[in-house]
Amino acid sequence: MSQHICSIAGCTHEAEEAGLCGAHFTAALVHGAFQYSTTSRAHN
Ligand SMILES: [Zn+2]
Repeated sequence: MSQHICSIAGCTHEAEEAGLCGAHFTAALVHGAFQYSTTSRAHN
């Protein structure tokens, strides 16, 4: 149970943070449009 796959549909990369692969996690930070259900950490 140590390997996870990116939550983005069509992406098969290994998830690194918040259920997303590095590329998608970075994109999520930049766009700020994704909701993270795996963590309740808020960013203001
Ligand atoms: Zn991805």
